[in-house]
Amino acid sequence: MKQIAVIGSGTMGNGIAHVFAQHNYKVALIDVSTDILTKALSTIEKNLDRQLQKEKITQEIKDVTLANITAHTEIREGIKDADLVIEAATENMNIKLDIFKQLDNAAPASTILASNTSSISITKIASATKRPDKVIGMHFMNPVPIMKLVEVIKGYNTSDEVTSQIMQLSEKLDKIPVVVNDYPGFVSNRILMPMINEAIHTLHEGVAGVAEIDTVMKLGMAHPMGPLQLADFVGLDVCLSILKVMHSGFGNPKYAPCPLLINMVEAGHKGVKTGLGFYSWRHGTKDLVVSDQFKR
Ligand code: NAD
Repeated sequence: MKQIAVIGSGTMGNGIAHVFAQHNYKVALIDVSTDILTKALSTIEKNLDRQLQKEKITQEIKDVTLANITAHTEIREGIKDADLVIEAATENMNIKLDIFKQLDNAAPASTILASNTSSISITKIASATKRPDKVIGMHFMNPVPIMKLVEVIKGYNTSDEVTSQIMQLSEKLDKIPVVVNDYPGFVSNRILMPMINEAIHTLHEGVAGVAEIDTVMKLGMAHPMGPLQLADFVGLDVCLSILKVMHSGFGNPKYAPCPLLINMVEAGHKGVKTGLGFYSWRHGTKDLVVSDQFKR
């Protein structure tokens, strides 16, 4: 594989493009407007500058990485020579089904179609195409240039050959791939989200405050950050939507989102992205300040 196309240039898409380009793949980065793409390219350049300052890369690698990326607003044009397309568009079933239908019609018959979805069924996404054996989940973690894991999700019809190609490709990117089957939440979110949900229930029931819950989990379990802080970083709306997918997918009440989480999302308190969640992020992400709602 030499030519990669990435659909969506947001948080994950620009990180995925960055990592492939840095490893000498040609990347076509695709989004709905040139403004969004310009912003994504400048984010990639800023992240490369940070790597340069830390002496993780040379000026030459930075220049080659940027030269390997082209920006496109037309899916058809961006994917015409792609060996692999990775979709990292907004987490919305209809958007993804529509994109995969377009990809299936426009991409060469041999092209593998991957999705970076956090929770949507790969088998369902594959059903929008006539090549379900070549549709697979390639779930990168945020921030993509730093996090080592790629959760590779094998849909119901994904072929063993395609799975092994994606495993090998992930290793070429210096990542560690782990293959899992396609069930709601895969492995990462099936385990992470109930922990976050339980932390929110623990807060909601007054067992302990925000700082206390996070300190217990950080110091007691050697987690790099507590579950409530992590939920703020992931986005409380994202946590809620993944819990809903697991709740309906398994039909098991143990995945029902905590009413406090639902209230916070409805009130617009979605964590870092809105400046307020369990913590206040109005002054950046360095200091942990418990938000006023949860001051004890
Ligand atoms: P984001 O909102 O930052 O970016 C999504 C991008 O997709 C936007 O730039 C949007 O303009 C673009 N887009 C929407 N519809 C499009 C279309 N039809 N064609 C081309 N581009 C389109 O979202 P994100 O956080 O980067 O998430 C992207 C995907 O990655 C989602 O499926 C999400 O679940 C998954 N994911 C996110 C994280 C995370 O921490 N943010 C981690 C792992 C996986």
